[in-house]
Amino acid sequence: MLTQRFRINRHLEALVGERHPETSPRALQKAAHYLTTQFAKSGWNTSSQLVSVWGKAYRNVVAIKNSDRGPQGEALPPLLIGAHYDTVSGSPGADDNASGLVVLLEVALRLRAQSLVRPVWLVAFCLEEQDRLGSQAFASRLKAERCELAGAIILECVGFASSEAGTQQIPPGVPIAVPTQGDFLAIVGNESSRSLVRQLEQDARRHAAKLKTLSLVVPGRGEAMPHTRRSDHASFWDAGYPAVVLTDTANFRNPHYHRETDTVDTLNLEFLSNVAATVTTTAIQIAGVRP
Ligand SMILES: [Zn+2]
Repeated sequence: MLTQRFRINRHLEALVGERHPETSPRALQKAAHYLTTQFAKSGWNTSSQLVSVWGKAYRNVVAIKNSDRGPQGEALPPLLIGAHYDTVSGSPGADDNASGLVVLLEVALRLRAQSLVRPVWLVAFCLEEQDRLGSQAFASRLKAERCELAGAIILECVGFASSEAGTQQIPPGVPIAVPTQGDFLAIVGNESSRSLVRQLEQDARRHAAKLKTLSLVVPGRGEAMPHTRRSDHASFWDAGYPAVVLTDTANFRNPHYHRETDTVDTLNLEFLSNVAATVTTTAIQIAGVRP
């Protein structure tokens, strides 16, 4: 466990710091480079998908692990797990969204020796804070290529938690009871991703017993509850793919959201590790060879 904590701290050290296309483009590039290197170190095939915006090129970092089941397994639609790597201007983005990237890197490492029946794609998206331009480009190209997906799991702010009462705000219009203790992971899906929501819930309970979850399945593409559309999963919903977002609920819990105080020392690393364990288990359930 110590080595995992050490690894997580090292990733956070490398990633945390403003990563913005206009005000810190070099840090944004550095983060993309770090992610590519780490995915490659864990044995994944890496590539970049270029996204051209404002006359400049940005990139989604893509890491692929293919099925070990030959042509038949290759034919099964892949499972995608994604997290954005840009920040807003003026924030070091520890929770938003270095936390999601740490989970991606942990999943990459833990699936390294795993045999797969279907491909897994890990994607670090650029430009989420700019109207989700990175994931929009990714999902619309997939759709244009008539590529299917088993599902997309998006990680958006997954490192802030507190068990004190009164630490959780209730997002307006949410039709379920929300606890006032901000120590659960929210799982938000829609009708077409209901089974993915259930799988994640179950795996959180079974393999990371300390991780409480709260699930919400919204109709359609979440149009009636705009708060539920606030990350890259909405790009997949819009393109007709089953997708869920895992989140600590961001500004409804974290007072440092989008501020200069979104720093590493505010993160709950145990919570973050439990999220990584859950997502790894779900990835193995969906794409792994079962014993
Ligand atoms: Zn974010």
